[in-house]
Amino acid sequence: MKTRTKTQTQKDRARTTGEKSAEDRPVIVVSNRLPVTVHRGPKGLEARRSPGGLVSALEPVLKRRGGTWIGWPGTELRQDETLWTDEGPYDIRPVRLTEKEIAGYYHGFSNRTLWPLFHSLPGQARYDRKEWQMFQCANEHFANATAEVAGEADLVWIHDYHLMLTPQLLAERQQETRVAFFLHIPFPPYDLFRLLPWDRELLRGVLASDLIGFHVAGYAKNFLDCVERVLGARVDHEAMLIEHGDRTVQVGTFPIGIDFEYFERAARAAPPSADPTERIVLGVDRLDYTKGIPERIYALERLLELHPEHREKVVFLQIAVPSRFQVAEYRQLKREIDGLIGRVNGRFATSQWSPIRYLYRSLSQDRLAGLYRDADVALITPLRDGMNLVAKEFIASQVDEPGVLVLSRLAGVAETMYEALQVNPHNVDGTAEAIHRALTMNEAERASRLTALRRRERLNDLDAWVDGFLAAALSAHVGLRPPTDADFDAWLGRFVTDHPVALFLDYDGTLTPLVDHPSKATLTPSMRNVVHTLVGRPDTDVAIVSGRALDDVAALVGDDAIIYAGNHGLELMGPDLPRFRHQDLDHYKARTVALAEELADLAVSGAWTEQKGATLTFHYRAVDGSKQGRLAEQAHAIITEAGFQARNAHKAVEARPPIGWDKGQAVLHIVRALYGPAWSESVRVIYIGDDQTDEDAFRVLAGLGITFRVGSAEAPTHARRRLPNVDVVEALLAWLAKRPAAPTATHEP
Ligand code: UDP
Repeated sequence: MKTRTKTQTQKDRARTTGEKSAEDRPVIVVSNRLPVTVHRGPKGLEARRSPGGLVSALEPVLKRRGGTWIGWPGTELRQDETLWTDEGPYDIRPVRLTEKEIAGYYHGFSNRTLWPLFHSLPGQARYDRKEWQMFQCANEHFANATAEVAGEADLVWIHDYHLMLTPQLLAERQQETRVAFFLHIPFPPYDLFRLLPWDRELLRGVLASDLIGFHVAGYAKNFLDCVERVLGARVDHEAMLIEHGDRTVQVGTFPIGIDFEYFERAARAAPPSADPTERIVLGVDRLDYTKGIPERIYALERLLELHPEHREKVVFLQIAVPSRFQVAEYRQLKREIDGLIGRVNGRFATSQWSPIRYLYRSLSQDRLAGLYRDADVALITPLRDGMNLVAKEFIASQVDEPGVLVLSRLAGVAETMYEALQVNPHNVDGTAEAIHRALTMNEAERASRLTALRRRERLNDLDAWVDGFLAAALSAHVGLRPPTDADFDAWLGRFVTDHPVALFLDYDGTLTPLVDHPSKATLTPSMRNVVHTLVGRPDTDVAIVSGRALDDVAALVGDDAIIYAGNHGLELMGPDLPRFRHQDLDHYKARTVALAEELADLAVSGAWTEQKGATLTFHYRAVDGSKQGRLAEQAHAIITEAGFQARNAHKAVEARPPIGWDKGQAVLHIVRALYGPAWSESVRVIYIGDDQTDEDAFRVLAGLGITFRVGSAEAPTHARRRLPNVDVVEALLAWLAKRPAAPTATHEP
């Protein structure tokens, strides 16, 4: 393992002096792999440095700042086996995963679903429910391990596609520490992302972060677009902010750099790697189908056909690092590459020369630096690549005769390496011509291009990337400006134009903020005003749909022109609406009395039961936080045992009769009664609610109306959009109240 440890790390210094500046606060890094991979050898556990760009990028950060690296050690550890934790300048915490979990989470969902899909190769992706479940399960293990130490650090920095659910799972376990997420691979465009059966879940998982970073603007743009279109979240594309429930999430672009000085130094120190009379075209990749190795060999073959002057002079050296051999596609790719190289060598080789030299192994970065230095051309032509560090390492190692970088325009790194010769790797002739151009370019042009590339990479090196990301992750949070009429226009303008509106509003948490006791939830004068203005419009019907008893909610709102649905819709009344009482109401009314008595056994301080006729709510908002979970579970059990449906609400458990009647059915009943069976032709339905019980209405109205869920984004929703709080509900109602007049809503006789 290469070490670049300082003699006294900042963490050591902080420990001995107690000093703690913003610069050197510990960071928790969470990634699939630890910086070391553990193998079980004849002498027990052996550790080797893990391969890949991520470790090269992050290890120096933790060595400098101290903290903890949480990850999978690469092998299943037995219960009695531990990884050393207190020797290095930072701690290592292995996440224990079983072979089965690794198969489903890592080789399965991460590498056979997300990897190909995110690299825009959907033909290679497969969608397997069991692997998705393993992915969730493994992310929980990572979240558990992180929650144990998160309190000690200023920041939890979660890495990459394997752990996209970890931010949300961590937020469920602890809320104090800031969480930042960085995606090291591309983020695909909406048309590809939505192929994923769990698109919503994945986005919600990562949106629990405070900052989400991408390599380049294109990926961030795709992500914002997906969040907007898949989740219906409000997005500021300019400021790259997302409104996720009542939180704002910052998105940013942070193109990763390399340790430029290290490669420059290593290149100066490396012994000659090649015969100086040979001209070397170099490829260095993990053996992965995204890297375009077969396409590259075709391009070389074409070069030798089109420009025979390079025969016996140019050697193509391909380093292919073994990777993901458990995945069948990778084994197949290896066979394909072996076959292609054999064929091309067979076709062009002479007694003195073979065009392609192929090493199927990993080399140290010190050795790579020598190879990079001595190469005339680096041929880096992935079909898709998040960034590609090899391109940057080549540039940093070019300390002698200037070489030329031939670079795929489909690699993230192409967004900043303007001076490289950019190619489309699918264009075999174009790539062949670019290699020819590189091999024949004069010194003045080579030097000019290289100088500009080196200058940029030296400036934007690994430290700059880390500092930039950490500064953004730790800086004060900017909120997204509240939605304006322009937003309401965009969401509802066309929908309501020239149509009467039936507006359904939940009460608690939607028209009034949630308070300790339902009796305190009264409408503010301004909210009351806007509701009354809406009620006064001939083109608008307003209904309040509440879990409260009918008389209770009607008295709180106090307007006879409104339709009221109480008891989650079991009782309805309003102008032009025949009074409705569900037939089972009385039966269940009697049974809630007995249920209330049973729940009285749970009466710890702060818990109480609200009886609302045929439904009942067990409130525990005022109970000591540590007791709430257990109490909710007990209430759930008692309610279910008594033959009611138990539903979680805000710090409460609702008991409802199991009669297939809910807020959704009540809404349908109302619109059919008022406007007839073809109601959707004449009236536009809008529903705003904040609660689990409103989900029934969101589900029923999907595709039929426009629905909004108010409040935090913790719970998944079927609503079309989210509104952050009651103030925004009021702003939306004010927009509706002043919209241009539409035809009057005609009711069924
Ligand atoms: N690498 C290495 N030994 C090798 C080949 C590659 O250490 O034989 C390193 C290389 O120096 C680079 C990383 O592996 O830092 C590859 O990163 P890149 O972003 O190019 O691709 P990834 O493997 O992350 O897809």
